[in-house]
Amino acid sequence: MTAAHVARQELNGFQGRLIDRDDPEYEAARAIYNAMIDRRPGLIAQCASVEDVRSVVRYARKHDILLAVRGGGHNGAGFGTCDDGIVLDLGGLDSVSVDPAARTATAGGGATLAQLDAATGEHGLATPSGIISTTGVGGITLGGGLGHMTRTFGLAIDNLLEAEVVLADGEVVRANASQNEDLFWALRGGGGNFGVVTEFTFRVHPVGTVIAGPTFWDVSQAEDVLRAYRDFMRTAPRELNGFFLFASVPPGDPFPPELHFHKVCGVLWCYVGDEASAAAAMQPMLDAAPEPLLHGPGPMPHAAIQGAFDGVYPKGDQWYWRAEFFNEITDEAIAIHAKYGAAMPTWKSTMHMYPIDGAVHDVGNDDTAWGYREANFSAVFAGVDPDPSNAEVIKAWSVEYNDALKPYGSGGAYLNMIMDEGPERVRASFKGNYDKLASVKAEYDPSNLFRVNQNIAPANN
Ligand SMILES: Cc1cc2nc3c(=O)[nH]c(=O)nc-3n(C[C@H](O)[C@H](O)[C@H](O)COP(=O)(O)OP(=O)(O)OC[C@H]3O[C@@H](n4cnc5c(N)ncnc54)[C@H](O)[C@@H]3O)c2cc1C
Repeated sequence: MTAAHVARQELNGFQGRLIDRDDPEYEAARAIYNAMIDRRPGLIAQCASVEDVRSVVRYARKHDILLAVRGGGHNGAGFGTCDDGIVLDLGGLDSVSVDPAARTATAGGGATLAQLDAATGEHGLATPSGIISTTGVGGITLGGGLGHMTRTFGLAIDNLLEAEVVLADGEVVRANASQNEDLFWALRGGGGNFGVVTEFTFRVHPVGTVIAGPTFWDVSQAEDVLRAYRDFMRTAPRELNGFFLFASVPPGDPFPPELHFHKVCGVLWCYVGDEASAAAAMQPMLDAAPEPLLHGPGPMPHAAIQGAFDGVYPKGDQWYWRAEFFNEITDEAIAIHAKYGAAMPTWKSTMHMYPIDGAVHDVGNDDTAWGYREANFSAVFAGVDPDPSNAEVIKAWSVEYNDALKPYGSGGAYLNMIMDEGPERVRASFKGNYDKLASVKAEYDPSNLFRVNQNIAPANN
């Protein structure tokens, strides 16, 4: 009998699909976004309901089987899969409903940002989260969630009002400001350590069109542009979001052919407001770093800027991720950025420096599990290429770039944007919140069933 047959006997009434290694759909079902991660689970349980989720959790616990929970499957380190164990795939729990009067949106634990943004966009509403629409709401929210509207409205977790959670014993609970408050605190930044979230309810904001798009300068101007950007962001209004990046201009519309593959530094803007105010807000940056190669911000639906990278970064590329928080960008650090920005090893490799001030700083370090509220920037160094033979080259660039900047960092990293760097990196990245997280973990998951993640070991284990 196959693993699926054995499991099906015990998972009475399972409504979704159970896929094992003999199933013709196994190869497609096991693939995750980052092709550098190649794992072969024994069983993939594509859940169709909360009851399915409960059954799989109980089954894995009873038989002590390694369990990986998959939301959108985007995690760089590959925490949406595992070798030999069970993948609990939430992709079937992807409905989104919006209550425009209450200004809330509720998304299933396996919804993507595209689904969330499309549903809220129909009502001229949006909630802040990440920048690529194929990412799962689940993983990105539980890790924090930063992107195009972070300075304006905060992290995704700062807009999370409630979660429905299947705990390690299979029970279903709700977590919010007045129910299971310690769990609610831990879910907001603590990752998938505490249970399977089957539903997220977010506060949404009136956001119709935004003024978004890039400004690019030649990469040789990086030191001047980054210095100007650093100084400019200190006083920029919080309606203005704009992350600094190194990239190569994608080879297609809307970019002029003469710029295709050109190495650039730049800012990808997203202003929440009208066009005239956006132009006024950006102008000091253009005064400080004149004559860009391209200045392209314009009005577009919020969902359009959210999906702007989707074509460049489809599922199946090789990715190697490193990340670091920064309180300040010093002149010494700027020189290092300029060196590694000019040395991007492949055209898809990139560095993004997200500003995480503004509304993020309205929340205290211990108000949620996300413990780096005083940091002003979150940088990610992503080596990317479709060709597996370039895996070592992209990895080396990402690691060396990050290592060179560590002396100028805040001491931790945004855990959603790193590979598996081990327990010390996890502890450092939660800073003063780690011990409380370990206590909450001991309360809700004492046997560490949920351990395929940036793991927090239960206290006293
Ligand atoms: C191309 C790309 C762009 C990105 N851009 C951004 C960005 O702009 N901003 C940002 O903040 N991050 C960004 N990220 C990082 C992203 O936040 C993480 O990769 C995140 O883990 C993805 O979530 P997922 O659900 O798709 O991943 P998965 O691989 O499915 O899951 C990741 C982790 O979360 C857990 N998990 C997922 N869903 C649930 C759930 N419902 N309940 C319990 N546990 C769950 C999993 O067990 C696993 O440990 C990006 C990633 C990629 C690949």
